[in-house]
Amino acid sequence: MYAQVIVDVPTMQTNRPYTYRVPAAMKEILQRGMRVVVPFGKGNRLVQGFVVAIKENAEQVEKLKEVIQVVEIEPVLNEELLQLGAWLADYNFAFQISVLQTMLPNVMRAKYGKVLRVLEPEKLRDWPQVALMFADRKEVPFDNDNVDHELLPQLLKLQKQNVIEIGYLVKNRAKVKMVNVLKSIKDMSFYQEQLQKLRSSAVKQARLLSFLMHAPSKFVPVKDVIKRYNLDYAVINQAETKGWLVQDQMESYRIPKLQTPVQPSQPLELNAEQQKAYDAITANIVEPEKRTFLLEGVTGSGKTEVYLQAIAKALSIGKTALMLVPEITLTPQMVRRVKSRFGDDVAVMHSGLSDGERYDEWRRIQRQEVHVVVGARSAVFAPLINIGLIIIDEEHETSYKQDDNPRYHARDVAQWRSDYHNATLLLGSATPSLESRARAQKGVYQLLTLTQRATRGALPTTEIVDMREAIKYNNDDVLSPQLLTSMQERLARQEQIVLMLNRRGYANFIICRDCGYTPRCVNCDVALTVHKDVGRLVCHYCGYSETIPRQCKICGSKRIRQFGTGTQKVVEHLNEILPEARVLRMDVDTTRKKGSVDKLLTAFGDHKADILLGTQMIAKGLDFPNVTLVGILNADTTLTLPDFRASERTFQLLTQVSGRAGRADKPGNVILQTFNPEHYAIQLAKDQDYEAFYRQEMSLRHAWRYTPYYFTVQIKFAHEQVNEAAKIAFETTNWLKNIVDKETIMLGPAPSTISRIKNKYYYRVVIKYRYDQNLMQALTELMHKGQQLQRQGVTLMIDREPTNFM
Ligand code: ADP
Ligand code: ZN
Ligand code: ZN
Repeated sequence: MYAQVIVDVPTMQTNRPYTYRVPAAMKEILQRGMRVVVPFGKGNRLVQGFVVAIKENAEQVEKLKEVIQVVEIEPVLNEELLQLGAWLADYNFAFQISVLQTMLPNVMRAKYGKVLRVLEPEKLRDWPQVALMFADRKEVPFDNDNVDHELLPQLLKLQKQNVIEIGYLVKNRAKVKMVNVLKSIKDMSFYQEQLQKLRSSAVKQARLLSFLMHAPSKFVPVKDVIKRYNLDYAVINQAETKGWLVQDQMESYRIPKLQTPVQPSQPLELNAEQQKAYDAITANIVEPEKRTFLLEGVTGSGKTEVYLQAIAKALSIGKTALMLVPEITLTPQMVRRVKSRFGDDVAVMHSGLSDGERYDEWRRIQRQEVHVVVGARSAVFAPLINIGLIIIDEEHETSYKQDDNPRYHARDVAQWRSDYHNATLLLGSATPSLESRARAQKGVYQLLTLTQRATRGALPTTEIVDMREAIKYNNDDVLSPQLLTSMQERLARQEQIVLMLNRRGYANFIICRDCGYTPRCVNCDVALTVHKDVGRLVCHYCGYSETIPRQCKICGSKRIRQFGTGTQKVVEHLNEILPEARVLRMDVDTTRKKGSVDKLLTAFGDHKADILLGTQMIAKGLDFPNVTLVGILNADTTLTLPDFRASERTFQLLTQVSGRAGRADKPGNVILQTFNPEHYAIQLAKDQDYEAFYRQEMSLRHAWRYTPYYFTVQIKFAHEQVNEAAKIAFETTNWLKNIVDKETIMLGPAPSTISRIKNKYYYRVVIKYRYDQNLMQALTELMHKGQQLQRQGVTLMIDREPTNFM
């Protein structure tokens, strides 16, 4: 028997299965989808791999190596996920191993180590220093911290003489949590008898006996018993010796906790529009015709309620459901809503979980112990079987696209999986991506609309404030008089306010007033951002930081001024002009700690603060009935992005954040401060008129030949030398130009918007095409060349439907 293994060596040359002999002892257990440890390469170092096929025959068997070890006795990838992996790697020009690993929790990625092993201990006597290092041990870890560099020449000699050898280790980091458990083993009368025999001073034993008398005949965690009956371990151990109970160890799941307990909730009675959407979706769940729905509903129209009831329908016919939510850590409210409907039947997966929690949630899904999965992007790989419904909430969100290797879009994966399962795919948004809305136009998706808010409240009214005017008469470039007055009104009425400023940190950057010098990152071509709380200038691309200078590095002048405004500075400003208002700040910097988002939002929900100030993090999903005013401090930040989707992003963001106002009975207002008040994205966001925006934007995309009229691919080349990056970019582009279709348009090559990041120079080409089989073949070929390019120090990136043009 032979196993075909995709090995954990992500290079182009190794991007294919390798054949290994299966030792007799493993023949019974080895299956497709299992993880194994195999020797690889000349040095036979050990690597992990995935078994993708098992065969009875192979060629040149005498040359084959053997599988060393099976990592776990069950497959970790089922048939569906193996097929998905193969397709996804192909489609996104990614390595198979990277794709397979992406489908699993992070901790399941192997950790590699080396050891030094003594083969002939007696010979070490002549090498006292080395002998000392081993100190009677057969094996010691071989890494930088452990081995004295001065010993390396000696070790090398000993290795040549076969006195010692270097061994490879593959460590499994995924750990199952075990807890101590106990069980009562006797009947009631036995315990009563014991109780009578006790001395009156033996109160703890008495308490334990009273528990044992009524204990369920199954294992319960020792910790719980000790806590509830105020006991200690000594009493439990003593009881075990006396034969009152038995102890054992059991697996325990680390289930992510929320700040407050979840209260069960009942489905709401749907309104007419919701009902119509629900009927269409559920009819397809029950009798699938492989249909994708686009649920276009204004903010607060009750899309989530439709999702929850559709999930319930899927469960009622024995199917499972997968619901994707963008950056779910940011909306514990959403988790709470789903758990309140489906209780323990829900697994949650997002990046805010600890490794252990993530692994355990994954195992609960894998073991079919839950039927509903809610999660962020990577949850699209949740190993659910028998899927009846896949939901992508806020389907337009860019976070569904993974921007690193392996690149993929969760929407593509969801589409693939729903085809595989013949499941219903439901995309929902107040502001669908143009791609999806256009597909609905063509009838590829079925369009469902919710035009009204679900609660009585109307959509908020929006006022646009022209900041060019506002700063003419007013020194304050953060809060216009209109916004300030409205805030004071709300504070007086005990209502709450959400403010969005799309820029974290303190000020944007600093500039010398005398010579104009601005400190820039040493690794990247960007200005550094002021972070006053840590007293440093920080690069938002690579994390490099330095202290805030007191004087100009170039001319020595002390007149250095901070420009622009970040969230930190606004908080300071608010504290000055509205000292009575309590302000919470929510941005990347205040939410790094685990659970901090939940804590912040719970506090705001409990009205422990009047103002929630945040970056675009706060635009999504928040549902606070007492928020009646939303202030957008600078609507222009996304508008100026060098990206053909800048208007779309701006419209989406403004609509989303506006939707946070007036979600319950109290009417909501939005004040939108901008330097571009006439821009159509801003004007249409004011009225939350998605359909009008869609029409206008489509005509522009048509004119400029962009998505969704054309597909796009971006190719990037990076090198430490700017000339090299340019050279390879031009060579490749010229090569491609001769291959691609006549209608295909190539833009560039040109330096990327930020031409240097982490000490590498970036060049890019953007290709727009309609149907171009030649291009696809050429890209696959290019990807195969990637290995060779890597040797020349070139990093190559091929990005299908890029969402990031930086
Ligand atoms: P969306 O997901 O479209 O933003 P939600 O599902 O969050 O909207 O609904 C907004 C608010 O309306 C929530 O507070 C929700 O409880 C409420 N809601 C939704 N559907 C109904 C309904 N049919 N009847 C009453 N309230 C509803
Ligand atoms: Zn200067
Ligand atoms: Zn940097």
